[in-house]
Amino acid sequence: LRNWPILAKDALRQNPRSFCAEVAPRLFVEHTSGTTGKPVKVWKSRRTLTELYALSEVREKGWHGISRKMRWAMLGGQLVVPVKQRTPPFWVWNAPMQQLYMSSYHLSADTAVAYLDALEEHRVHYVWGYTSSLYALALEILRRGARAGHLRVAIANAEPVESYHRAAVLQAFGCPLRATYGMSENVLAASECPHGRLHLWPEVGIAEVIEQGSAVGPGAPGALICTGLLNEDMPLVRYAVGDRGTLEAPGFTCQCGRTLPVLSAVEGREDDVLITRDGRRIGRLDPVFKADLPLQEAQVEQVALDRLVVRYVPDSHFDSSHMGLLVARLRERVGDMNIDMIEVPHVPRTRSGKFRAVVCSLPREVKEAYGFVSSWDDGAAGAGGTDAVSG
Ligand SMILES: [Zn+2]
Repeated sequence: LRNWPILAKDALRQNPRSFCAEVAPRLFVEHTSGTTGKPVKVWKSRRTLTELYALSEVREKGWHGISRKMRWAMLGGQLVVPVKQRTPPFWVWNAPMQQLYMSSYHLSADTAVAYLDALEEHRVHYVWGYTSSLYALALEILRRGARAGHLRVAIANAEPVESYHRAAVLQAFGCPLRATYGMSENVLAASECPHGRLHLWPEVGIAEVIEQGSAVGPGAPGALICTGLLNEDMPLVRYAVGDRGTLEAPGFTCQCGRTLPVLSAVEGREDDVLITRDGRRIGRLDPVFKADLPLQEAQVEQVALDRLVVRYVPDSHFDSSHMGLLVARLRERVGDMNIDMIEVPHVPRTRSGKFRAVVCSLPREVKEAYGFVSSWDDGAAGAGGTDAVSG
């Protein structure tokens, strides 16, 4: 694989059809979620989709004692009912899939208890959704002093899972929050076992970890470069998925007994890393926002090498001492930067509704000067280096 060039997302975005096999069965087309606002098209055969669902059934669900025959709830990004609607239901029962589809957009302090009631009325066994949506629902349930007692597991997708998310979900739903990892391009996938480790699905793809142009060993973080094995109709070789991760050493054994390789950390998207003047990359800021601060949510955006903007949604008892603590914790990690604190009613989501805790909006030239992604991203002329977060 090392003899192949790295495939940047922009090359795929510009001419996606050219990555398809010449002789292919009828294919389904999927548009990637487009966190960058520049979605990619991916074609897949029925067989590829069937295999993905089978792997999900065995691993994402089977490892936690659930199956497709059980009733479940999806807390997702489809509106389901008009956005202006203020009274329940904010969900629909999708009978063929045994699925209660709940709109994450209508979730608020006023509606959370109705969501909880709906989960109980529909007797769902597990719930699936964006980490930030599950967390928001858990916080509202806890604020009301309520608790859901019948769920077996909550499965998070599309966003990283931090320890404070787990703690809130465990307390509110009485069940663990389990992470999954994957992308529409299906070049890598992983799911969390009951011992809290993300096990890779080797059938889906091969992962390499590359930092500043060279491969790094197990235990060190870097950009994930993945070669897909599942989708023969649109094979992607050494594709830069845009996320950073760390692999566990081969031969590591998890207490769960599974021998599937372990992805020991996913740091989120390559663009979700802050850069300090001294060249450090700071990706995980969860210790800053841990559960002891009365915050509903917060987002850190780097707008210049020496300036951060923090947008936060405070709880009612958030005061200046909490503010001081928050700034002090940030400073411990980022050093001498200007920090602008902005109180907002809601942290803006990406176009596809994803929450991003860390956003790096530094210009492309600055990122390049610090050896950032673009060292191999040279097919991306004119694509721009920053990702706008749209509301
Ligand atoms: Zn395990």
